[in-house]
Amino acid sequence: MVKAVVGANWGDEGKGKITDMLAENADIVIRFQGGANAGHTIKNHYGKFSLHTLPSGVFYDHTTSIIGNGVALDIKKLFQEMKSVVDQGVPQPKILVSDRAQVVMSYHVLFDQYEEERLGKKSFGSTKSGIAPFYSDKYAKNGFQVSDLFDEELLEEKVQRICEIKNVMLEHLYHKPLLNPADILAELHEYRELVEPYTADISAYLHQALLDGRTILLEGQLGTLRDPDHGIYPMVTSSSTLAAYGAIGAGLPPYEIKQIITVCKAYSSAVGAGEFVSEIFGDEAEELRKRGGDGGEYGATTGRPRRVGWFDCVASRYGCMLQGATEVAFTVLDVLGYLDEIPVCVGYEIDGDVTTKFPTTARLKKAKPVYKVLPGWKCDITGIRTYEELPENCRSYIEFVEKQIGYPITMISNGPGRADIIYRGQH
Ligand code: GDP
Repeated sequence: MVKAVVGANWGDEGKGKITDMLAENADIVIRFQGGANAGHTIKNHYGKFSLHTLPSGVFYDHTTSIIGNGVALDIKKLFQEMKSVVDQGVPQPKILVSDRAQVVMSYHVLFDQYEEERLGKKSFGSTKSGIAPFYSDKYAKNGFQVSDLFDEELLEEKVQRICEIKNVMLEHLYHKPLLNPADILAELHEYRELVEPYTADISAYLHQALLDGRTILLEGQLGTLRDPDHGIYPMVTSSSTLAAYGAIGAGLPPYEIKQIITVCKAYSSAVGAGEFVSEIFGDEAEELRKRGGDGGEYGATTGRPRRVGWFDCVASRYGCMLQGATEVAFTVLDVLGYLDEIPVCVGYEIDGDVTTKFPTTARLKKAKPVYKVLPGWKCDITGIRTYEELPENCRSYIEFVEKQIGYPITMISNGPGRADIIYRGQH
């Protein structure tokens, strides 16, 4: 049985917490896309962790954590992260890395920085982790698969070819120091040594796991609105953030993904640039940012203050639809307890017309939010464990959102910890 945990919005919906929680009953947790450019924050009995590369299942003895072929694999960061988790008292996690995953090279990070520098004010607000240059190289067939690391002849030939291309750009476009093929080869040898003990044929492993009746969790990074096809292009990430891509980025039959738990946060937040119709500003925003998440809405990777806004039903309905949500986990609801009234974005006004359909980017730029204002519940809901115990206005808020987005909210998260969860329906 395969379940996916994915985001409906811009990311930071709380997928890490939901994955960590569901991993209790899973055998395998697998990252299938993205790289070390975004982070998941997890709070459990070992402490508080910010994971960028490791799957959020690393905290259990019984789970195997896998880096799938769809991931942008930063080998050094993976091992640093593994060490830091173990240093904080977590038992050595069982990790496997796909022999088809490709490797983020030091020059990908440099090209990311150089390109942002070159673009100046028009930059994409990249986290400069090398993700866009990495995926460009992957699809231009200039990447290194983990399996390539074990074929010396191939490596030498490829390094020469890639340095030729990169050096033209470095010399003529960026005016930066050139790459030396010997250095690149040495970098690849270092990666080979680090990754060798963990390398495996992951699709074969997962097919066997399915035959053995194991539970597999796919863990998404970012959310629908950052998908390169269905998101707010070009302010998107470079790999698909959709559950469907889990089949490709892990090497699984698509029909095995039976449950798609789509995570929506009870208000909106976004790190980085791009359209965000229900964004709020000034003191109102600062208050929500300070109270938001667990210790404020600041990016897990970059520490950048997150942009915040009200819940957006238009974007979330679309986000769930594209994920193919079978259910919704509604998170960080506890944070809204301070508000007298809570606006919810129920439509977009574009050129004088109101729509509830999420448009393509050019039209989206013109959209103005249409709000419905709901009454707040004015109390702290942390610690509540059953739906019936929630204040009436809080339940009305959940039920209003559920009706608007059209997908069942089966889990409500009212705190950052594993136990802060309220199940609804048949769980
Ligand atoms: P992800 O990338 O989707 O995993 O999300 P992040 O980890 O970037 O952001 C979610 C933040 O909210 C983290 O700081 C979590 O600890 C925190 N969080 C998750 N669920 C809840 C919740 O229900 N209530 C509160 N207060 N914080 C939560």
